[in-house]
Amino acid sequence: MTDKPAPPAPAPAPNFLRTIIAEDNRSGKYGGQVVTRFPPEPNGYLHYGHAKSIIINFGLAAENNGRCNLRFDDTNPLKEDVEFEDSICGAVRWLGYDWGEHRYHASDYYDDLYRFAEWFIEQGLAYIDSQSAEDMRATRGTLTEPGKESPDRHRPAAESLALFRRMKAGEFADGQYVLRLKIDMASPNLNMRDPAIYRIRHASHHRTGDKWCVYPLYDYTHCISDALERITHSICTLEFQDHRPLYDWVIEKLADGGLLERPLPRQYEFARLNLTYVVLSKRKLIELVNKGFVDGWDDPRMPTLVGARRRGFTPDGFRLLIERTGVSKNDTWLDMSLLENAMRDDLNDIAERRIAILDPLKLIIDNYPENQSEDCFAPNHPQKPELGKRAVPFSRELWIERDDFMETPPKGYFRLSPGKEVRLRYGYIVQCTGVDKDAAGNIVAVHATYDPDTKSGTSGAETRKVKGNIHWLSAAHAKTAEIRLYDRLFAVPFPGARNPLGEAAGDTSSTAKAVSADADGETAEAVSEERNYLDDLNPDSKKVITAYIEPALADAVPETRFQFERQGYFVADLEDHTKTKSVFNRTVTLKDSWGEASGKSG
Ligand code: ATP
Ligand code: MG
Repeated sequence: MTDKPAPPAPAPAPNFLRTIIAEDNRSGKYGGQVVTRFPPEPNGYLHYGHAKSIIINFGLAAENNGRCNLRFDDTNPLKEDVEFEDSICGAVRWLGYDWGEHRYHASDYYDDLYRFAEWFIEQGLAYIDSQSAEDMRATRGTLTEPGKESPDRHRPAAESLALFRRMKAGEFADGQYVLRLKIDMASPNLNMRDPAIYRIRHASHHRTGDKWCVYPLYDYTHCISDALERITHSICTLEFQDHRPLYDWVIEKLADGGLLERPLPRQYEFARLNLTYVVLSKRKLIELVNKGFVDGWDDPRMPTLVGARRRGFTPDGFRLLIERTGVSKNDTWLDMSLLENAMRDDLNDIAERRIAILDPLKLIIDNYPENQSEDCFAPNHPQKPELGKRAVPFSRELWIERDDFMETPPKGYFRLSPGKEVRLRYGYIVQCTGVDKDAAGNIVAVHATYDPDTKSGTSGAETRKVKGNIHWLSAAHAKTAEIRLYDRLFAVPFPGARNPLGEAAGDTSSTAKAVSADADGETAEAVSEERNYLDDLNPDSKKVITAYIEPALADAVPETRFQFERQGYFVADLEDHTKTKSVFNRTVTLKDSWGEASGKSG
């Protein structure tokens, strides 16, 4: 079943973003231009969720002959670092995208952002507030009650301007003053209740050093950065929906004042990627690494893009997943099997086939001459004859998989058992003649005889049919390899949730995920967590074994992906696979072994 031809590349399915862009192109709103951006904060490693954002932003730009800017949203000097910028660039490139010369930083715009802030003060649209952060929070109101105006709200513009300049000059301590827009303390939208746009932070910034001690906040920075870069479609996740009125307010005012050019960018929100059997929250990923539950950020089980790469996942597999699951405005959960199936389908298409014996049992062909060997020929890809065949040596003593032999087989077992015949794929038909056991009664070797007239690829070889077909390696020729069998990091679909199996259909309370964005544009994830998500780790997510591999596999270039026949997809490890030691990671098995478990939880 896994050797089915790969499905044809899906034609781009309509989604609401494609529809909007097509309409804007038709109306000429942006003169046919499509400019998007991917705006990561350089404060961590990118994860599977970011891949969705990258694929949507760079993908839509590419489909429309537009461009996508890479913009580091680096307005929080306390948390950011160049190390993360490098890793983010690497991850975007790995996914196959190129921003050309369009790599920007929000901090590139600090001068403009500051100048515009003074303009807002001069226009009577912003004021310096001396309230403490607690006071501001307390007077902000609630969804049902309006906020209370600050006593400083009517401070004369000249006084605010003077204070703002003294803030910039470093005369005040962190938190002593903030600059707020003067919008509407009674707005039903809390984001419009005089949001803070500048705060004092005596901190060095990784790019601007000590030039600034006032830093702009996310909502103010993001929309202006978009407008300055002449972004047309500013695509973000749903938690920013309630921020859109503020986004529009800021840039409309600046455009009215002649400080920004029209047409202005517009923000569109899509549902973030939520996946079962992993966690994507930054806090939890950091904890997994720091407490040693995984082997680092690029552990193949981590849902980071560096982890995905080491796991053997493919950029095209991610694209297939996003294309299949679509872009919508409803927050939903995707089952991990969808991601794994996308990877299987891509790997089935691209990965050459090889043979490995993961749990070896000796098979001795008693009527095959000792010290003789010959080549059998195995196709590199069953649907791609153009990829050719390779020689696999055959000899008297072979390795087969332990579970391809049973001394007393149940009905319907077509592999090897006493008296029965199987085909050694690409080789001969053999008949089992007996077993060797050790003193404890364990089977240590299986004996067989081969039929010299049945070699695959020779005339008449296929006239005799047998039901079983197993893989094997010549013991004298096989090499050893360290194989890391990876599986899902968590054993349950919703780690840490009250009902981690999500059994009660329709009970979304245990699995609902509320995501909100704060003034730093930082997203906080609140999966109702009544249990410790760490208790849900899968104890079998990594097993390391020593196995036998085809001689040719030892020469594999790191990161080459293979299908080990009848086993799964594997990748030569990026770091540890060398000329002297073979290391392969299991990317995914051939079939979904979680099907039943997820079925139960469904
Ligand atoms: P933080 O809490 O630090 O803001 P973040 O995950 O939002 O974390 P960003 O660097 O701000 O990280 O994200 C960059 C972009 O990726 C944003 O546009 C964000 O909306 C998008 N993004 C983040 N998580 C997901 C997700 N799960 N699915 C789709 N897009 C995402
Ligand atoms: Mg964010």
